[in-house]
Amino acid sequence: MTAQDHDDHDDHDHDHDHDHDHDHDHDHDHSDVPSDIALRVKALESLLVEKGLVDPAALDATIDYYERQVGPRNGARVVARAWSDPVYKARLLATPTAAIAELGYSGAQGENMIVVENTPNTHNLVVCTLCSCYPWPVLGLPPAWYKSYAYRARAVIEPRAVLAEFGLTLPDDVAVRVWDSTAEIRYLVLPERPPGTDGLDEDTLAALVTRDAMIGVAKVPTP
Ligand code: FE
Repeated sequence: MTAQDHDDHDDHDHDHDHDHDHDHDHDHDHSDVPSDIALRVKALESLLVEKGLVDPAALDATIDYYERQVGPRNGARVVARAWSDPVYKARLLATPTAAIAELGYSGAQGENMIVVENTPNTHNLVVCTLCSCYPWPVLGLPPAWYKSYAYRARAVIEPRAVLAEFGLTLPDDVAVRVWDSTAEIRYLVLPERPPGTDGLDEDTLAALVTRDAMIGVAKVPTP
C-alpha cells in the first residue's frame, strides 16, 4: 500500500477494528491519540475554516489574547493600584468598570464590573452558580474548578467549608458574602493588602496578588 492509498483510506468512515495488515507505512503514531475533546475541537475548527466561517489567523490571535495578554496579571495591577492610591480605590469601588478601563482593561465579559472589598470583618467569594461567568478582562479564562458543578453548588450552600478546602479557614466573626455572577454582572474581589508590604511599589505589589485571591478563595499571602 502506498502513502497515497493510506491517506485516501483514512478519509473513509470506518473503524480500525477490522482485520488488516498494520505493517504498512504509517506516517503517524496510533499510540499517540489526542483526547476526544481535542479531536472534536480540531474537527469543528477545520469545518469552520473550510466553510470560510472563521479565519485561522484570527483564531490563533484570540487564543493568544486570552491565554497570555489577558489574565490574572491585569486584575493584579488593578488591585496593586487600589492598594497604592486611595483615590483610585474609591473610584474602583464606586465606578468599577470605568476605573478598571483606566488601566486599559475592558471588553467582553467585563462590561459591568462590581468590585467587592475584603476587610478584617468581611470576606467576599465569587461564583457563577449557573455556569462559568467570569470577568475575562481582569482575570482571563476561568480555572476548571470554577466551572465545576461541585464548586458552583457548594460555594453558596457551604462557603466556609469550600474556603477551608482551599486552605482558608476564617474566624466565625468574619462575615462571608457570596456573589453569584450573572450574564450581565461580573465580580472582582479586592483582597486585603497583606501586612509587611508598606513601601512596596505597585509592580512589586502586583506580583503578590494571586488569581485565587481575586476570586475570593484565598488571601494574598504575606511576602
Ligand atoms: Fe455563568
